Amino acid sequence: MSETLKQLGEEELLTRISHYLPPGQIDDDTALIPSQKKDLLINTDVLVEGIHFDQKTTAPEDIGWRAVAANVSDLSASGVGKVIGLTIGLVTPPETEWQWIAEVYEGITNALKIYGGTILGGDCCNGKQKVISITAIGTLGRLRIHRSHAKNGDYLVVSGPHGLSRLGLSLLLNDPIIKNYNINKLLKKQAINSHKRPKPSIETIRKLEECKPDETPWRAAGADSSDGLIQAIKCICKSSKCSAVINKDSLPKPIFWPSGNMWDEWCINGGEDFELILSLPPLWAEAFTKVVPDSKIIGKITCGKSKVFWSDGSGEITSESMYTHF
Ligand SMILES: [Mg+2]
Repeated sequence: MSETLKQLGEEELLTRISHYLPPGQIDDDTALIPSQKKDLLINTDVLVEGIHFDQKTTAPEDIGWRAVAANVSDLSASGVGKVIGLTIGLVTPPETEWQWIAEVYEGITNALKIYGGTILGGDCCNGKQKVISITAIGTLGRLRIHRSHAKNGDYLVVSGPHGLSRLGLSLLLNDPIIKNYNINKLLKKQAINSHKRPKPSIETIRKLEECKPDETPWRAAGADSSDGLIQAIKCICKSSKCSAVINKDSLPKPIFWPSGNMWDEWCINGGEDFELILSLPPLWAEAFTKVVPDSKIIGKITCGKSKVFWSDGSGEITSESMYTHF
């Protein structure tokens, strides 16, 4: 058993955490970011124990990874060029062991090695419940993606399959709801991995920029699907004051995905898939699906009041079991 934070004290805790940062980074209360004369994107994401992660299903290293992934995913959905770094606000009960903190920082560091950036600083505090709040900063790439930039006639494109993280959660919890299904081994592995180590679509943004046809304008709307596919589309529709129609036969189901209502529901409302949902001029959408192998056109944007419908006329897409924060 490693020492608890109560035994360590704040000074020693900060000394230990400083090993995860570039040398000298926490000597001051602020971090200096050299100006690159580029627009910056910034966002904050909070992970709360019992809501966003659970000791039973999420190892501390995975918590660190997921915290970075969630932030980078939001930056990607706005068109990030490069991740500069992040600050970490950490609340933990005093009986928390140092080992837990160390493993969370390992996860954060491993994700940053892949997605870029360093830890810029942060703060630690006592609390009853574990909370990790990360603020990430990145430079803007060639295209600022706004949720409000969808237009009637755009195609809706997803960067990858949906539902994996939800299945991964049920597998990790030994959920009886899936016990009567013969789930493909590869699908199981992929689902657990997607839940533990989601991969934000930062590289996909480069491909989106590169595949833009000359005749289409630099205009795209988008969101990530961290709160579910339909929720992401609803957000785009709300901000852009439009509706969307989704083709039932084009749902972005993973390979070997079983059939049935629950599985369709997990695909559209499962949440935490961290894929990009884009509203693009048709030619650009088609070009995008050629360069991003897992991507798919699933419907289009129409005139109307921020609602999502099935294209076959069977009505509005319900979001009853939609992942909600409150
Ligand atoms: Mg998000």
